[in-house]
Amino acid sequence: MKEDPGMKKVYENMKPGVVSLHGFLGSDKRNIEQIVEHDLVTLGELGLTTETIADMLEKLRDKAFSGFGEWVDIGGGLLAKSDSIRGKLPCPFEHKGLYRKTVTSIRGEGLDKEVIYTDLGIHLVREHGFFQGKGSPFRLEPEQLFYIFEKFVYE
Ligand SMILES: [Zn+2]
Repeated sequence: MKEDPGMKKVYENMKPGVVSLHGFLGSDKRNIEQIVEHDLVTLGELGLTTETIADMLEKLRDKAFSGFGEWVDIGGGLLAKSDSIRGKLPCPFEHKGLYRKTVTSIRGEGLDKEVIYTDLGIHLVREHGFFQGKGSPFRLEPEQLFYIFEKFVYE
């Protein structure tokens, strides 16, 4: 794959301490395009799109937000919680605008570990098909999202 010079800057932005404290890549050694490509294939195999996932993450965030910091039952033995953190983050792909640092957590039976994401994370999925690198605290595993998608009861 030919190196896109624009992506070099994006890659720099994703390192820890540039846009966010932990960065977006975790311990993943792949480049951003490879991470995106691999997750999109997995998502396709699961019959999902980035749009569907981003919509779900937004609805879950809103549902969690209604709990004002307490865990909220979202169906299927899953709980969600929303924590507002002061401050905003820019998109590492250098889009204009800032994203709230609201952190949504989902936990419950059937999940390997707590699924945690921010509003920026939703944007990264929707606009960039980017679920973050392996080992990033905000990494979203397509299989786990699929599990939540199957359980979450929309109201
Ligand atoms: Zn963006």
